[in-house]
Amino acid sequence: MRIVNKAVIVAASCVVLLGSRPPSAGETPGSPTAGHGLDLTALDRTVDPCADFYQFACGGWMKSNPIPPDRGTWGRGSQLDERNLAVLHDILEAVSKPAPARTAVEKQIGDFYASCMDEPGIEKRGIEPLKADLGRIQAIDSRPKLAAEIARQHVAGVNLNVAGGGFYAMSLLFRFGSEQDAKDATSVIAVVDQGGLGLPDRDYYLKDDAKSVETRGRYRDHLILSFGLLGDSKERAAQAADRVLSLETELARVSMDRVARREPENVYHKMTQQDLEALAPSFDWKAYFSTLGAREVPGLNVAVPDFIKGVESLLKSQPLEGWKDYLRWQVARSASPLLGQKFVAANFEFYGKTLSGAREISPRWKRCAQLTDTLLGEALGQPYVERTFGAQGKARTLKMVEALEQALRQDIEGLPWMTEATKKQALVKLDGIKNKIGYPDRWRDYGRVRVVRSDFAGNVVRAREFEVARVIAKIGKPVDRGEWGMTPPTVNAYYDAQLNDINFPAGILQPPYYDNAADDALNFGGIGSVIGHELTHGFDDQGRKFDAQGNLRDWWTAEDAAEFEKRATCLADEYSAFVAVGDVHLNGRLTLGENTADNGGLRIAYMALLGTPAGASSGPVDGFTLEQRFFLGNAQAWCANISDEAARLRAQTNEHSLAKFRVNGVVSNMPEFQKAFSCPAGAPMVRADACRVW
Ligand SMILES: [Zn+2]
Repeated sequence: MRIVNKAVIVAASCVVLLGSRPPSAGETPGSPTAGHGLDLTALDRTVDPCADFYQFACGGWMKSNPIPPDRGTWGRGSQLDERNLAVLHDILEAVSKPAPARTAVEKQIGDFYASCMDEPGIEKRGIEPLKADLGRIQAIDSRPKLAAEIARQHVAGVNLNVAGGGFYAMSLLFRFGSEQDAKDATSVIAVVDQGGLGLPDRDYYLKDDAKSVETRGRYRDHLILSFGLLGDSKERAAQAADRVLSLETELARVSMDRVARREPENVYHKMTQQDLEALAPSFDWKAYFSTLGAREVPGLNVAVPDFIKGVESLLKSQPLEGWKDYLRWQVARSASPLLGQKFVAANFEFYGKTLSGAREISPRWKRCAQLTDTLLGEALGQPYVERTFGAQGKARTLKMVEALEQALRQDIEGLPWMTEATKKQALVKLDGIKNKIGYPDRWRDYGRVRVVRSDFAGNVVRAREFEVARVIAKIGKPVDRGEWGMTPPTVNAYYDAQLNDINFPAGILQPPYYDNAADDALNFGGIGSVIGHELTHGFDDQGRKFDAQGNLRDWWTAEDAAEFEKRATCLADEYSAFVAVGDVHLNGRLTLGENTADNGGLRIAYMALLGTPAGASSGPVDGFTLEQRFFLGNAQAWCANISDEAARLRAQTNEHSLAKFRVNGVVSNMPEFQKAFSCPAGAPMVRADACRVW
């Protein structure tokens, strides 16, 4: 969840599994891969496509592409991520050498990267970068000081993360930031939201199955290890770990679950600062806001009032010493990747290995390139775009977007279950969608971030502070509709229901999603389906609740809303039956928006393809008809291997279904697929009770 932005509620992104593969010989990083057709070696022809289409399309690929040690998942799209990283690596290595000819942007990203690569210097400083924080926490002896320290940590961007987008959230005890007012699409207000957990979700604290109990045990071990690294004795570390675990468990108990959070009304409670103070009078909000530098907040969304009430009773019941241990842990957790080897290794051991299934930490340069992208993304994005993104790619993508929008228009017009009144509104919304392709019109200026080659931790803190200041400065200002929530090299895309726009970073406009040299069947199956997916988000269970301007406003007749819900429930039930790993099922309600978008997106991409000149001919290529190649091209963009750990984590926390179900779940609902492969009734890829929303 991205809290400081509307993304918390609505922006639904299309996360692509990231993996790792070094560029092969003869392949220029960032350029289209050799071979512009279907990957025939990826197929598993021993399997009937009507029995398991994902296995048929990807079985060969899965067999010959094991997960590399530094990843928990490894998909066909990963090679693109890896190529993008290689481009960033090239750029950063070149500009990290102190040469007088560097531009201001080159100097800034180059020096930032160099400071990150300076392992001996980082090792030598040891725990030094944390000392001032730990000293202040140690000195807390009153509630006002506790609140002021939490504000100070928020300002410093503690636990700042980019959770799949570029909208930042800092989280300690709760999250604070800014977001577009859900019911007034012209203004930005402040937001206070739940947060402050060290595990990925409330369920990790509350579930009692064997695996959850085991994971909590390992978390406790990691807490003990971390407190030991901060200098605690064994007994003291164990005591602190227990306090943290009990405090975070209480926070988890009062947190709203992910499914409930998908309902926009559930996380919108506009109130005054005085109302917030009344919800939790034991927290010194005056000290908090004054330290934050946001004395008067003109509008405020308290996303989950029950959470703030829970914080109030926790403040009353927990001794100050417990809070101090909690603060020490969260501050150390946030800083661990910036410190010496012991901290980095401990952090990876739990978060990378235990929770995400990677076996080895990725090389330092990758982590440093990723961090530069995270914190100075629109600076690093400039040379990236210069190198990789041609005018041709942008023009052809825009043309496809128009074709997909046209197909969605036809689809809406032809829907048998929707009345004319709602159709008319839906088309107004469709016409209002803005298309953002490649990179922003205006680059963010990071000029105020001071970067020092010998001060990695300081650089990160200053870059985080800049971002937090930027986010807070937006409160009370008009909405900036040109802003991007992803950096240009990102292999992903998103729809933002509050801006009613679709966003395609340059990073995803490459194979296997898009290839200038490939034919339409493959490009419509690839990026075409992603475009359709993002457009459909405007009309999924969340997106449909916002109007063309991005206001949370009901434009549906009651009758049509009921018809929609009936169809959505069909999809939710279908996906809830899929098993991710062991006894963990997908959560059909958590993934409903994404599944709606996957299903609608592929259908309208198919309609759009048939509307092109290429759609008129269906002569076989490589032994497959145009229609078959479309479905294969789509499925092959999803080929992936995933560790049990990563599958478990995704099923519990991610709104996207696992790759296998993103393919089989969709095609089994599509008569177009069944016709293309002549699947008989009763075959596994032919659902008797097929679901269709759009
Ligand atoms: Zn999506």
